[in-house]
Amino acid sequence: MSEYLWHCPFCNRDQTVIDEGRQISFADLTIDNADGPRRLVIKFVVCPDTQCRKFSLSVSLHGLETSGNRSYTGKLLKTWGLIPPSRARAFPAELPPAVLENYQEACFAIEFSQKVAAALARRCLSEMLRDFWEVQPGSLSDEFRQIKGTVDPLTWEAIESIRKSGTIGTRMENIGAEILDTDPGEAELLIGLIETLIQDWYVSREERRKRLAKIKEITGE
Ligand SMILES: [Zn+2]
Repeated sequence: MSEYLWHCPFCNRDQTVIDEGRQISFADLTIDNADGPRRLVIKFVVCPDTQCRKFSLSVSLHGLETSGNRSYTGKLLKTWGLIPPSRARAFPAELPPAVLENYQEACFAIEFSQKVAAALARRCLSEMLRDFWEVQPGSLSDEFRQIKGTVDPLTWEAIESIRKSGTIGTRMENIGAEILDTDPGEAELLIGLIETLIQDWYVSREERRKRLAKIKEITGE
């Protein structure tokens, strides 16, 4: 039995999914064609949370490898999220409209354009820095530098691991929301960083507010 960690887009929680919680089937293209044999992998995942139990559906296109009369799933070519239609999460905190819009649009765009999604994600990160930390506008990289030493060391580590990763970091040096070439997986990484930072900044602040309100209620202040 294998287990893996999975984030449910419906109840917005990390869940451990076991084999019984997912169903995978294949559809193979074996007709001779210009691009070669292909395999479509269809994946259903059912949320193990008893209150939720919603299913997610995604399909991915792969190459199809054959050896003798056995066939194998080859290189991943493209993934589509079908249910829910976008991978955007819901957060238990109010976000500035510009942050929320850019985040949701980046999640939506990733299905058809990595370049557009990465540009929207960089714009979203910049909006967050200007809103939450009131940084002076500059390149994204420079805006991040302004919060070094202020943010939680673990959060900074997450930022630095992306900021220092070669061409992804270089593109953060650009001013403005230009659409630039992207590395494979770059948009995914940037969206992941946005989600980490929304959690660490906006959601944590909201939780602190709630705790404080509760204390005040008890002490009657
Ligand atoms: Zn769920």
